[in-house]
Amino acid sequence: MAGKLQAPRGTFDVLPEDGERRAALRESSDELLGLAGYAPFDTPVFEDTEVFARGVGQSTDIVQKEMFTFEDKGGRSLTLRPEGTAGACRAYVEHGMHKLAQPVKLRYWGPFFRHEAPQAGRYRQFNQIGAEALGSDDPSLDAELILLLSQLLEEAGVESRLRLSSLGNAATRAAYGEELRTYLRSRQGELSDEVRARIDANPLRAFDSDHQGTKAVMADAPLLIDRLDPEDAEHFAEVRGFLDDAGQEYDLDPTLVRGLDYYTRTVFEFDSPSLGAQSGVGGGGRYDGLVEQLGGPATPGVGWAAGIERILLAGKPPEKLDLPVAYVVVPEPEQRRTAFRIAEALRERGVQAEMEQAGRSVKGQFKQADRVGATHVVIVGAAIEVKHMDSGEQKAVADIQELLQEVSL
Ligand code: ATP
Ligand code: MG
Repeated sequence: MAGKLQAPRGTFDVLPEDGERRAALRESSDELLGLAGYAPFDTPVFEDTEVFARGVGQSTDIVQKEMFTFEDKGGRSLTLRPEGTAGACRAYVEHGMHKLAQPVKLRYWGPFFRHEAPQAGRYRQFNQIGAEALGSDDPSLDAELILLLSQLLEEAGVESRLRLSSLGNAATRAAYGEELRTYLRSRQGELSDEVRARIDANPLRAFDSDHQGTKAVMADAPLLIDRLDPEDAEHFAEVRGFLDDAGQEYDLDPTLVRGLDYYTRTVFEFDSPSLGAQSGVGGGGRYDGLVEQLGGPATPGVGWAAGIERILLAGKPPEKLDLPVAYVVVPEPEQRRTAFRIAEALRERGVQAEMEQAGRSVKGQFKQADRVGATHVVIVGAAIEVKHMDSGEQKAVADIQELLQEVSL
């Protein structure tokens, strides 16, 4: 016997009530990012695996463990996108966007895929809002993007804490990596097996460990923030200056390690205490080497991505707008065509309107009007009447003009 069909593990359906909240979030984020010049943009949900292997970095958890990779019928290796920045940079190069006026500011919204253990706030198909600014290393862009994400979270009713750091440039990072490796080797007996195994591949991840011994070792470890080149230190100071002027609060966290290899200079993360274990609600940073790594011209960039499901989990639903909602009740089937035209006419004039469409009795139709939150019921019988649901007052109207007058709140 066939089992019950269900959505695949780690995926979910968006049901209407949740859909409304998503649509509201989309609208407010489009407006917020649009006002700062971030244009709507999208890439395919799958790319050549190479884009992520080169873009996200071979040593990252994402590439090593979390990608949905498959072969197409032509034997090409494709991967469902686990994040948006690598694809955005691939598109920037492919379309010669370096020839446009810089910076190129992009925003996106859509599904991403990671093969992780599903739990609250962690899915295998999830959605992100993202923003990227390519082609300029101006520190005001780092600050602008951080403030945009902060405002977006605030508008969504998400309480959050911002952590901020700088990773410097690739050379500083490489030299620091060697220093950290040497340090970790000098105390390797105290480290967890996993951290010890990755001293060579990714020593920075040691800062992320929950292992007691490793934590003790890391408390005395050298910090990258103390090794920044003068230009990188100056860049970071400028980013902080813009944030301070805007009154944006943040914690400096020199151990902040993002799970992607491509970051340089500024990195940041917003955490929401109400989310529990999956507290990361959004994060990002500067990636000045990424476009070049993907075969393009040397191009600085900075951006972030935030998890839509986590924003909705941590946030408050928006207040319902006070707009009229009309429900058209049809006592006799002969009037259905008139009722249909009336509902249409109301919608054409911007009033939310529905008519009875499931064969209900008049009593059932009034119940349905309540369910859809009707502020006005239009009764289409021998005459056309409007009932104001708040006062209970009922009035006959002569034509659509008069009807509209009655229905406006
Ligand atoms: P985490 O620490 O939770 O694994 P991450 O560092 O892997 O997050 P990013 O790559 O920075 O996350 O992605 C940006 C945002 O996307 C996260 O802050 C989070 O809100 C969301 N996100 C990431 N992975 C998932 C997932 N599997 N399910 C739902 N949301 C996710
Ligand atoms: Mg992750």
